[in-house]
Amino acid sequence: MPSKPVLTPSSSRVSTWLDPPTKFSMFRTTSELPATADLAIIGSGFSGASVAYHTLRAYPALSIVMLEASDVCEGASGRNGGHLRPDFYTYASQITAKYGPEEALLLSKFERDNFEAVKRLIKEDGVDCETVEDGESWQVFLTQEEFDEALRELTMMRDLGGDVHDIQVYMRDEAIAVTGIQGCFGAIVSPGSPISPTKLVSHLIEQSLVRGLNLQSHTKVLSVTLNNCSDATPYSSDNCAASHSELDEFENVDMNSLRIVPKNLSYLHKITTSRGTLLANKVVHATNAYVDMLLSISSNVRDTTKSPYDAVFVTPVRGHALEIAPVGMRRTLSLDPSHNITNMDFNRGGEYLIQRPNGNFVMGGGRRFGKGKGIESFNNKTTAETEIDGSVDHYLRFFFPQILCFDNSRYLSPPKTIFGESDTNEAHSADYRIVKQWTGIMGFSTDEYPLVGKIPSFLDQGQEYCIAGFAGHGMPRIFLAAKALVRMILLEDDEYKYDCQYHSTGAPMPGRYFEGIIEVAENVNMPQCFAITEERMTKMINLAKMKE
Ligand SMILES: Cc1cc2nc3c(=O)[nH]c(=O)nc-3n(C[C@H](O)[C@H](O)[C@H](O)COP(=O)(O)OP(=O)(O)OC[C@H]3O[C@@H](n4cnc5c(N)ncnc54)[C@H](O)[C@@H]3O)c2cc1C
Repeated sequence: MPSKPVLTPSSSRVSTWLDPPTKFSMFRTTSELPATADLAIIGSGFSGASVAYHTLRAYPALSIVMLEASDVCEGASGRNGGHLRPDFYTYASQITAKYGPEEALLLSKFERDNFEAVKRLIKEDGVDCETVEDGESWQVFLTQEEFDEALRELTMMRDLGGDVHDIQVYMRDEAIAVTGIQGCFGAIVSPGSPISPTKLVSHLIEQSLVRGLNLQSHTKVLSVTLNNCSDATPYSSDNCAASHSELDEFENVDMNSLRIVPKNLSYLHKITTSRGTLLANKVVHATNAYVDMLLSISSNVRDTTKSPYDAVFVTPVRGHALEIAPVGMRRTLSLDPSHNITNMDFNRGGEYLIQRPNGNFVMGGGRRFGKGKGIESFNNKTTAETEIDGSVDHYLRFFFPQILCFDNSRYLSPPKTIFGESDTNEAHSADYRIVKQWTGIMGFSTDEYPLVGKIPSFLDQGQEYCIAGFAGHGMPRIFLAAKALVRMILLEDDEYKYDCQYHSTGAPMPGRYFEGIIEVAENVNMPQCFAITEERMTKMINLAKMKE
C-alpha cells in the first residue's frame, strides 16, 4: 500500500485555551515510542481523548497509544469558541427530509444526552473547566426572516414530539430589553454553557493516563498501512489470520497482570510516525480536518494536483476567534439580572460569543467574509493556517462592538472596508482591548454529518475506525459519539467482546455475553446520519471523483 502525504497540523497563534499550556504540554509517557499497541488513537483533541477515556474505563487492560502531531489538544479542540451548546431543533426539517422524523428526534435527543453526560462528568469529577450550571444560550436573530425560519423549525420539532420543554421564545421588544441589542428581531433561548475545552480534554487524558494510556505528543503519523505478518512482534504466530475459537478464547489471558494478550497476534497495522514505527491491532483516526490525509484510501481516490481544495471525506476549514476585554462596552451579556446569559450566537450561528469568568468575551465567526470562505487547500502545508485573514478580522472587530456597546447606534452600518473602502476601525477600538486572536482548523465532512464508525472493508482490509467531521459543533456531540464508537470497537468485535465479558464478571464465561454489565455496553443511540457505511463512503468518493 502506498504511503500517504500528511497535512501539517496548525501551529497558528496561541488561543485563550492554550495559554497557559495544558499540563500535558510536551508530554510523553515513555521517551521511546512503544513497539506495539492493542489500539492506536491518532489525535489528542476532544475526539481522541474521549475515545481513550471510554475505552480505558471499560477495558483498562487494553494497551492504548495516543499519537499526537503537536501538543495535546492543539487542534480545533484547543482553539474553539468555547460553546457547549446543544442544538435541539435547528436541523428538524433538514434531517426529516433526508432521513425521516425519527432521525430528527434522535439527533435532538442525542445532543441533549451528550450535554447531560458532559455536565455529569464535570460535576462528578469536579472538573474546573469554566462551565456554568444554569447558563442560558441565546440565539439572537438580526433579521425577521431568520427569526421566522427558526420559529418554524422549533414548531416542527415540537410537533414531532421532540423535547423542547426548556426552550423559550422572546419576541422583539422583550429580547431587546434583556439583551440590549437594538437591532434584534427576536431570540430563542435554550440551555447551554461556556466551556474551556482544553481543561475538559486534559481531564479526560489525565483519567486515561491513570488507567495506562501511553501518550506520545509531537509524534506525527505519516502513514497507516496493513502490517506484513512477518513484522509482528512480540507475540508471533504461525498463522497470521488465526481464526477465533470459542474453546480457547481465554488462553491468552495473563491471570496475574490481567493484561489481555490480543487474540489476533499479527498486529494488523503498521503506523509510521515521525519518531519510528508502531504496530497496532486497531487504529482510530481522530484527526479531524486531517482525516483524508491518513485514511488508507485517500491517496488513491483524490488527485491533489487536479483538485487541491476538494476533500473526499472531510474538508479543512479555518475559523477565527478572539478574546476581548471590555473597556467602554457593557460588562455582562444580560441587562436583566434575572437572566444568566452565557452564550450568544447570531447570523445562523455565523458569529458567536461567550463570556468567561474573568469577564472577558471569547468570540468568533465571520468566515463567510474570508478568502475562500475559510476552506483550506490540502496542498498548503505551511503559512495559510498560521495567518489571520484580514477581512474576517476586520468584520469581527466591527461586529462585536456593535452587539455589545450600549450605544449600538454608533455601529449601525458595516465598516466600509468590507466593501473595499477604507475605514480605520478607530471608533470601535476605544470600546475593547484585544487580549488574544487566533485561528483553528475545523473539519467539515463532505455530506455535513460527522463520520463515526469502522472504515468499510472495501477501503481498508484491517481494523481502522474514524471519528471526525464535527465542523463547528463538536462539543455537544463528540463525547457520546466516542462512546458509541468504543462500543463498536470493543463489543462488536469477537476478540474484545469476550475479553470485556471476562473483565466485567471476573471469570471466563465462554459463549455468553452480558450486555450492560460494563459501562460501555450501554447503548448510546447515536444518530444514523453519523454512522460510517459503505454506501455513504462510496457516495463521498464518487462525488470527489466527479469534481476532479
Ligand atoms: C475557531 C473555532 C471555533 C469553534 N467553536 C466551537 C464552539 O464554540 N463549540 C463547538 O461545539 N465547537 C466549536 N468548534 C469545533 C470544535 O472545536 C471541533 O468540532 C472539535 O474540537 C473537534 O475535535 P477533534 O478532536 O475531532 O479534532 P481536533 O481537536 O482538531 O483534534 C485532532 C488532532 O489530531 C491531530 N493530528 C492531525 N493529523 C495528525 C497526524 N498525522 N498525526 C498525529 N496527530 C495528528 C491534530 O494535531 C489535533 O490535535 C470550533 C472550531 C474552531 C476551529
